Amino acid sequence: MSSPAGASPTGQGPVPAASLSGSCAMSASDIAAGVRSGELSALGVLEEHLSQVERWEPEVHAFNLVTADAARARAREVDAMVAKGKDPGPLAGVPVALKDLLCTRGVPTTCSSRILAGWRPPYDATVVKKVAEAGAVAVGKANMDEFAMGSSTEHSATGPTRNPHDLKRVPGGSSGGSAAAVAAGFSALALGSDTGGSIRQPAALCGVVGVKPTYGLVSRYGLVAFASSLDQIGPFGRSVADAALALDVISGHDELDSTSLPGDPPRAASRLGRGVEGLRVGVIAELAGAEGISPDVAAALDGAAQSLAASGAKVEEISVPSVRFGLSAYYMIAPAEASSNLARYDGVRYGFRSPGQDITEMYMATRSVGFGAEVKRRIMLGTYALSAGYYDAYYGKAQKVRTLIIRDFDSAYSSFDVLLAPTSPTVAFELGAKTADPLAMYLSDVCTIPSNLAGHPAMSVPFGKGECGLPIGVQVLAPALGEPVMFQVAEALEAAAPLGTGDPHGEEAK
Ligand code: GLN
Repeated sequence: MSSPAGASPTGQGPVPAASLSGSCAMSASDIAAGVRSGELSALGVLEEHLSQVERWEPEVHAFNLVTADAARARAREVDAMVAKGKDPGPLAGVPVALKDLLCTRGVPTTCSSRILAGWRPPYDATVVKKVAEAGAVAVGKANMDEFAMGSSTEHSATGPTRNPHDLKRVPGGSSGGSAAAVAAGFSALALGSDTGGSIRQPAALCGVVGVKPTYGLVSRYGLVAFASSLDQIGPFGRSVADAALALDVISGHDELDSTSLPGDPPRAASRLGRGVEGLRVGVIAELAGAEGISPDVAAALDGAAQSLAASGAKVEEISVPSVRFGLSAYYMIAPAEASSNLARYDGVRYGFRSPGQDITEMYMATRSVGFGAEVKRRIMLGTYALSAGYYDAYYGKAQKVRTLIIRDFDSAYSSFDVLLAPTSPTVAFELGAKTADPLAMYLSDVCTIPSNLAGHPAMSVPFGKGECGLPIGVQVLAPALGEPVMFQVAEALEAAAPLGTGDPHGEEAK
C-alpha cells in the first residue's frame, strides 16, 4: 500500500474540476470526431491525458500500469492514418483504460494479484482488439479488487484506488480503477467487468456511467474468469452517449467465446434522442426499500422516477419478489464457479511460484502466498458449497433461486419496458470502513446482483449528489437484449439529473 488508509498520499483534496481541461474534459465522441477530421491530433489528446495522469495518479492510483510508450506509438499510427485519408474508426484517438483482467498481448495482466506477477498474456482479449481496431488508444491497465472479488478496490495487491471526488473514500469495486480513471480525466472511456455489480457500483460511486450488457452480448474471450456464468465486460463513460458508443464497438458475436450470442447485436445508441413518452417504467419495490438503502439514495431514486413521469413515461411500483434472495444465491454460485476457475493458478502455468519440498508443497505455498485473503475466502466458500453432501443444499438451491429470479423478471417485463432501482445502497464510503466485515462489503451489491443472475442488461447513471456532496447513481434494468430502450431511459435521466451531474466534477455539488 502506498499510504495508510484514510490519508491521501500528499494530503491533497479531491481532483479539482479545474484540472479537467482541454481534451480531458471532452466526450469520447467529440475527441473521435476531432481526430477523424484532423482538427485534433491523437498524440496531442494523449499527451493531455498523460499529463493529467502524471499530476493526479500518485493520489488516485487508478492504474497498475500506465503504458505511455505503447500509447504514444499507437496515437502516432492513428494520426498517420488520418494524414493518409484513412478513417481510424469511431474511437479514433480516444484514450481508454483497460481493467487489469483483460488480456493484453505481451503486456502484464495481473488481476491485481501476486499470483499473476510477471505473467504476460500471449494474446489480446477480443474487446482489447475491438477497441484498438476502432482507433482507441489504450493508456494502461486499471487497478481492481483481486480477481474482481470486492466492492471497494481495497482488495488489490497493489494498494487501493481512491475516489477522485474524495481521496479518503473508495471508488467502489471491483472495477474501481476503471471508474476512477474516467472520473479523474485520465481516459475518456474505460472497460471493466461486472459479475455482481463491479461496473455499476463503482460507476455510481465515482459519478460516471457504467454498463453491464446482456450476458453473451460482449465476448469474454481474454477476460480472466471469475464466475463464468455471470461475468460480462462493459464500458464506463462520462455520458450515456459515450457509453453507448463504446458498447456498440465491443458488442457482437465472437466464435472464440462459446457463450457469445449469435446474430447482429442490438445497437445501444439506436434509440437515443427519442425521449421516454409512453414508456412503461417499473420501480422495483424490494430494491427501492431494501434494508441499508440510505435516505439520500432513496430520495435520488424517487427524483429519478418523478422526472421520467414528468417526461411522459408511465411510472409505477412493481414487485419482483425473489430478488430478495439474489445476494444469498450469488454468494453460493459465484464462489463455486471461482473455486473451479482459480484452480489453474498452481505455480506451474502462470507467473508466480513459491518453492516447496515436493509438488504438493509447492502448490500449497504458491497459493497461500499468491492469493489474498478475500480470494482464499471465496475459494473456501465455493469448494464447500460444491462438496459432496452439501451440493444440493447450497449450490443446487441457489440455482433454483436463480430460475425464480429469471421468472419474476420475465413477469415484470410483460408489463414494463424497463425497471428502476438504486445502484449502490450508499454513496462512496471511507477507506477501511468495510474491510474487516466481509458481509458489510457484500451488501454493497444487493441491488446489482439480480441482473447478473438473470443475464439481463443494467446500467448506472449519475443522478444528483447525496451525503457530503458525493455522487449517486440510479440503475436502469432491461430485459435480455433490451439495451436500446435501457439507454433511451438512461439518457432521459441524464438530462433530468439535478445539478448538472453529467459533469462528474460539477462545482455545484451539494
Ligand atoms: N462485489 C461483488 C463480489 O465481490 C461483485 C464483484 C464483481 O462484479 N466482479 O463478488
